[in-house]
Amino acid sequence: MKPELILSDLIKIDSTNPPGNEKAVALYLKKLFEEAGIVGEIIEPEEGRGSFISRIGSGPKKLLFVSHADVVPVGEGWDFEPFSGEIKNGVIYGRGALDCKDLMAAQVSAALQLIAEKIPLQGELIIAVTADEEKGGRLGAGYLADNHPDMLAADYAVNEGADQPIMVNGKMIYFLQVGEKGTAWCTLKAHGTAGHGSVPTLADNAVVKMARAVSRLHNYRAEIVLTPEVEKLLRSLAELCGIKIEKLDPNAVDALLEDLPLEKAFVESLRSMTRMTVSPNMIRGGTKTNIVPDYCEADIDIRILPGQDCDYVEKELRLIINKEIEIEFNEYRVPTFSSSEEPFYRLMEEVTLKLAGSDAVCLPVISAGSTDSKYLRNAGISAYGIGHMARNFDQQARTTVHGKNERTDVASLQLKTAFLKELAHRYLS
Ligand SMILES: [Zn+2]
Repeated sequence: MKPELILSDLIKIDSTNPPGNEKAVALYLKKLFEEAGIVGEIIEPEEGRGSFISRIGSGPKKLLFVSHADVVPVGEGWDFEPFSGEIKNGVIYGRGALDCKDLMAAQVSAALQLIAEKIPLQGELIIAVTADEEKGGRLGAGYLADNHPDMLAADYAVNEGADQPIMVNGKMIYFLQVGEKGTAWCTLKAHGTAGHGSVPTLADNAVVKMARAVSRLHNYRAEIVLTPEVEKLLRSLAELCGIKIEKLDPNAVDALLEDLPLEKAFVESLRSMTRMTVSPNMIRGGTKTNIVPDYCEADIDIRILPGQDCDYVEKELRLIINKEIEIEFNEYRVPTFSSSEEPFYRLMEEVTLKLAGSDAVCLPVISAGSTDSKYLRNAGISAYGIGHMARNFDQQARTTVHGKNERTDVASLQLKTAFLKELAHRYLS
């Protein structure tokens, strides 16, 4: 079955999380694989929250294709019906078209093509479509990793998570995601003394204390950390842009980022790959206009790199915020990485260049956000993210992920499918 028809069907299944309803996606896929003579399984830790797993071929080698079945809420302001799945003039419309039902459709279509063409595999290709990724994945990949690790066990995994390609001096740059930053989310708590708002000097205003702390956090300059992959990425991009670098000094990174003639959104994502980021995103304090508040708290989104943990974060925060403000960590995840030195990484490069043209370039990238790959890497599976698109893909669609008017193009979906089919065929033969 053509990937665009599968994608269109998948978009029509509303799997907005919350509540999820990923089981409907799982049932659709189960039927599709059954029609091809393959039995699939649905793992449902909670009513309606099903993940789908199917495997084709047999042998010692194991390759895992992962995608997630849920999508984020659509919000307002769409120019078309978000769950229509309409295909028109080479474009497929609807929520999930880029995140990441497109990847799911490509993985499923690649597997079904391998079956239909009776291509012998000397190993197993495992298709896992997980629930709950958009809410952290505890009911999907997290649940499978904890309760059914044998179902996911594989040498390598291919998942979402890389930036879409960019064009630099006529060359298409494809990214392979090899790592994800960790999180060290915390809540800051400021205490003061309440009083009447008409005599503020008698009281001690907790909101003002927090405002000072938040303002200092905003001006925080994080230490620059160059992981080997990011160093390679920056050097290669500089070279492709015609900028000569003898040695990439961490202190020279910001100047280089200013010089790279690339889109701002991409440059800022490069910046966040080179340092811990600290973003004060929620603040709560005060109860009434005429009461000086005695308490205020703020939630801080902190993303960390290898070598950084809660102790490091606390030490850094303490350098700039007052001792009387408490720091309480409430979500901590280590950064996860897979090697770009693995033969499988080179195979992904080779297959990409074969399909995208020999003038294309592949570069490793790390993600500032997180995907299900964190569960896979923590379970010992080397996981890589892709964002492959065709040469003339709809660049305007980039910003529609988690936004309005999400869509993708048929040519990109076909390239993704061809890439995955060839990758599975070559790895498992
Ligand atoms: Zn996603």
